Amino acid sequence: MSRIPLAVRVFVARRAHHRCEYCRSSEECTGQAFTVDHILAEALGGTDSPDNLGWCCFWCNAFKQARREARDPISGEIVALYHPRLDRWTDHFRWSRGALTILGRTPTGRATIDALRLNRPTLVRARRAWGKQAKHPR
Ligand SMILES: [Zn+2]
Repeated sequence: MSRIPLAVRVFVARRAHHRCEYCRSSEECTGQAFTVDHILAEALGGTDSPDNLGWCCFWCNAFKQARREARDPISGEIVALYHPRLDRWTDHFRWSRGALTILGRTPTGRATIDALRLNRPTLVRARRAWGKQAKHPR
């Protein structure tokens, strides 16, 4: 169990509107409890400050691990991962037509999509179903 105080967890979840700050899935749609993500991992010196915390679904958190950088699949350069507190999602990502997949606008966006597998097949299938029910969190 997290040692992040409940009040801080509630703050982080509400700030994110109960959506994963990476893949944008909503807790309501997934039915899964999301988790607090240390954007800069504790192992790398990240703190429990709300400025270093994000709201994250299980799989984004699992794929992110303690990384803060990843390879841009186009340039091959190692770049910073998307940082939910410092970056704006729409600066780095956009939805494909039909909003089934997330497209990278920047090296950071592309690297984050790859590293966290933001278009994993189960998620794309879920987005299709959410769209049919007008529940897509976008
Ligand atoms: Zn996610």
